[in-house]
Amino acid sequence: MNGCDLTCVGLAPANVRAIAPYQPGKPISELARELGLNEADIIKLASNENPLGPSPMALAAAQEALHDVALYPDGAGFALKTRLSGKLGVAANQIVLGNGSNDVLDMAARAFLTAGTSSIYAQHAFAVYPIATQTAGALGIAVAAKDYGHDLAAMRAAIREDTRVLWIANPNNPTGTFLPWAEIEAFLETVPPQVLVVLDEAYGEYLPPAERCDTAAWLGRFPNLLISRTFSKAYGLAGLRVGYGIGSVNVIDLLNRVRHPFNVNAPALAAAEAALNDVEFLERSYALNTAGMAQLVAGLNEVGIETVPSKGNFLLAKVGDAARMNTELLKRGVIVRPVANYGLPEFLRVSVGLAGQNIRFLEALKACL
Ligand SMILES: *Cc1c(COP(=O)(O)O)cnc(C)c1O
Repeated sequence: MNGCDLTCVGLAPANVRAIAPYQPGKPISELARELGLNEADIIKLASNENPLGPSPMALAAAQEALHDVALYPDGAGFALKTRLSGKLGVAANQIVLGNGSNDVLDMAARAFLTAGTSSIYAQHAFAVYPIATQTAGALGIAVAAKDYGHDLAAMRAAIREDTRVLWIANPNNPTGTFLPWAEIEAFLETVPPQVLVVLDEAYGEYLPPAERCDTAAWLGRFPNLLISRTFSKAYGLAGLRVGYGIGSVNVIDLLNRVRHPFNVNAPALAAAEAALNDVEFLERSYALNTAGMAQLVAGLNEVGIETVPSKGNFLLAKVGDAARMNTELLKRGVIVRPVANYGLPEFLRVSVGLAGQNIRFLEALKACL
C-alpha cells in the first residue's frame, strides 16, 4: 500500500490494512458463471457443510418464523438459550449467541484484545483467529505446529505478559487434528488466569461418542475458558448463521457488551432450537460422515495420496502441486479448498460429501493425476 496515501483508506489503521481477508470456498454459482457450467453438474466439497442439507424440523421452524420477520428477533435469544441451558447443564447467562460461531470468536477478540496485547494460536489454525486478533489491533503469535496440530507445550511457553487470548480448535480446521481432552484439561491447569482460552468445538459432533467430552463441566474450575460451538456443521445450518459461546457469567457478560443487537435473526433462532430436537438427523449426519471419511481415505490412499488423519468432516490430501490440481478439479466441476494460505501449499482440503459426491471427487482427482 502507498505510504503517502492521504485518503481515508490510506490512513486506515495499519493493523486493518495488513489483514489477509478470509477466503471462503468458491460458491457453486460463481464457478458456473466462470466456466459456463451447469450448477447442477457442480459439487462443492469446500466449506465443511452438511451434505444432507438442514434437518427437516429445522427447516420447518425457519419457514414458520419467516411470517414474523417484520419484527426484530428476540435480541436476548431467550428460547434458544433456555433450551441450550437445559441441554448443557449451564445457566442461561453463561451462554452468548452468535451470528455463526465466528461472531462469538470476534466478540472474544473485541472484548479482550486491543493494541499492546497479544493472542496465541497454532500454525495452520483457523484463519478467523489471526483476522479477529488483527482487527482488534493486537499482536497475533503463531506457534509452530506439531504433527499438523497444536503443540500445547510450545503454546504454553509462548504466553507473554501481554497475552490475553489463546485459541484452540479441537478438532482443528483445516488439518482435522485432534488432541485428547485430558491433554487440554491438563493444559488449562497451567494457563494463567489473565489469559482467556477460547476452545473452538465447531466439529465436536463428528467425534466418535467415546471421544466426546462435556467441556462445559470444566467451567467451574476454569473461569477463563470460553467454549464455542456452531449449528453450521453437523446441524446443517451454515447459511442461517448461528452459533454460541459458553463461559463463566463474567466472561459472557463482557461479550454481551460488544455483541451487536439482534445479531441472530429470527429464522436462525427458531431453526437452531428445532435442530436441537432432531437427534435422529444429528446421528444420521455423524454416520454419513464416518462412512464418507473412510471412503475418501481409502480412495486417496489407493492412488498413493497421503492424508492427515482427521476427526472432522473434512480431510487434508497431499496432492503436491495443489494449485494446479485445484484448477483441474474446478474444470471438472469439483470445488474443494486450496489451503496454501494456511501454510499448506501441497494440500487440498476436501469436505466429506454424500457417497456419490465422494466418488465423483475421487474420479476427478484420478483423472488429473
Ligand atoms: C466452520 C468453523 C467454525 C464455524 O463457523 P460459523 O461461523 O459457526 O459458521 C468455527 N471454527 C472453525 C474452526 C470452523 O472450521
